[in-house]
Amino acid sequence: MITGKLYIISAPSGAGKTSLVKQLIADMDQLTVSVSHTTRSMRDGEEHGRDYFFVSVDEFKKMIEREAFLEYARVFDNFYGTAKQTVEETLAAGSDVILEIDWQGAQQVRKMIPDCLSIFILPPSIAVLQQRLKGRGQDSDEIIARRMRDAVTEMSHYGEFDYLVVNDDFQQALAELQSIITANRLMKKRQQQQLAGLLPELLGQV
Ligand code: GDP
Ligand code: ADP
Ligand code: 5GP
Repeated sequence: MITGKLYIISAPSGAGKTSLVKQLIADMDQLTVSVSHTTRSMRDGEEHGRDYFFVSVDEFKKMIEREAFLEYARVFDNFYGTAKQTVEETLAAGSDVILEIDWQGAQQVRKMIPDCLSIFILPPSIAVLQQRLKGRGQDSDEIIARRMRDAVTEMSHYGEFDYLVVNDDFQQALAELQSIITANRLMKKRQQQQLAGLLPELLGQV
């Protein structure tokens, strides 16, 4: 059975990771994004179970006690976490899985699943990052100011990631993310499993 690859995608808030990942999974087969649990309040247009599982702090803590999380962290005064079960089942079924998580979660996942790959998305400038957060029109000025303050901390961890992608032109950044996933699907280790029928036939071993 071919197991899927686990990808971590991190970025400062507003860099465009959610928009990029949404398009990426729409364009590629056998690729899913894990829906996180969070204690933050729901934004306009968000849906429980699609964007996040929105839970209370109490429910979140119960999940921590049950060891239901692959990783969790406190980000912008809220808790965010990735539930273990769905990720493990999806990988076992052969799909690649993307985790959209912060740098703290990325550190935890790398320890547990060392052969995961991590991608950091950078904005083209601080000014553009601020414009995108404002332009998204979802957060108050206070929340935007908090996210801008935390952006530098988040970005200071770029060196822990395997790939860096700058999201200036959206289509280019999307194509770069697709290339990363496609190139990894073509790695010998995975192709030997994928081509288990063809390879012996080509070598006259059947
Ligand atoms: P947005 O990234 O600006 O759309 O804001 P969100 O409130 O959706 O996410 C805020 C931060 O939480 C981002 O840095 C995400 O990467 C991070 N985050 C989201 N889900 C998870 C998760 O399951 N685990 C961890 N560790 N971080 C998460
Ligand atoms: P994140 O999930 O990293 O917080 P979003 O995907 O919500 O970021 O993107 C933040 C805002 O920036 C959204 O309004 C989105 O439409 C916009 N955006 C994303 N990528 C680009 C881009 N390359 N050029 C212009 N606007 C972008
Ligand atoms: P506090 O804000 O008092 O640090 O956290 C309240 C509770 O959140 C603590 O009981 C702690 O167990 C729980 N908690 C769970 N995960 C985290 C985490 O990643 N960071 C922090 N700071 N607290 C966490």
